[in-house]
Amino acid sequence: MNKKTIKVGNLEIGSNKIVLIAGPCAIESEEELILDTKDLIKVDVYRGGTFKSRTSPHSFSGLGQKGIDILNKISKTNNKLSITEITNANFIPEYEKNVDIIQVGARNMQNFELLKALGKTNKPIMIKRGFGNTLEELLYAAEYISKEGNENIILCERGIRTFENSTRFTLDISAISVLKNKTPYPVIVDPSHAAGNKEYVESLSLAAVAAGADGLMIEVHSNPEKALSDKEQALKPEEYNKLIEKVEKVANAVGRSI
Ligand code: PEP
Ligand code: MN
Repeated sequence: MNKKTIKVGNLEIGSNKIVLIAGPCAIESEEELILDTKDLIKVDVYRGGTFKSRTSPHSFSGLGQKGIDILNKISKTNNKLSITEITNANFIPEYEKNVDIIQVGARNMQNFELLKALGKTNKPIMIKRGFGNTLEELLYAAEYISKEGNENIILCERGIRTFENSTRFTLDISAISVLKNKTPYPVIVDPSHAAGNKEYVESLSLAAVAAGADGLMIEVHSNPEKALSDKEQALKPEEYNKLIEKVEKVANAVGRSI
């Protein structure tokens, strides 16, 4: 299968370089995003939920538009790209203007009207695998986007629900090989939501890079105990930096760089 490289600014996703996406689960404030990101030694894209789709309606669901403004400002100031999840097609014009990569969350992987609308844009779309979905269903979801003309698709494995409950989800490492075999699209792995526990983020990251992932998306927070969402899985900036040193060694061992 011919490989597709997605160009975003100066970044090529799906090239020899492992793409690093990091940031908090949710954008909480400008001050907090600065604290979360200022000490990260290597990162290409800042992440952070703004319109978040939460399982419980009582959980913090993001700052919405204000969150996008903060993410855009801090990313631009630091010469980084930005990614945040979209939950409603009505917001596409705003995302087209102020977000570099649009994320479709696991819970919206089969929101077909949203996918069709995103297919009519030119933006890079990172679509996350639903935790109850097969890879075939993920590929059909991607086709909803490409059928409308947008081929700037990035796939993301973020763990699936299995009978195992010692981790939040089960990271499907074989998804990397299958997706790379069956599609031209780059594959990013999100070890944070798969593990649900910071103790396991490092080993899953290293395994993903060894298995051929084109990038990692990792949740980082300056003070995880105080994080408004997903505090159990967030790495501190210094822990992230240590992890990335190891990621670089594994990347080099499989002929890639960071
Ligand atoms: C996220 O990445 O912000 C997120 C909510 O992840 P998922 O959609 O995979 O649960
Ligand atoms: Mn999260």
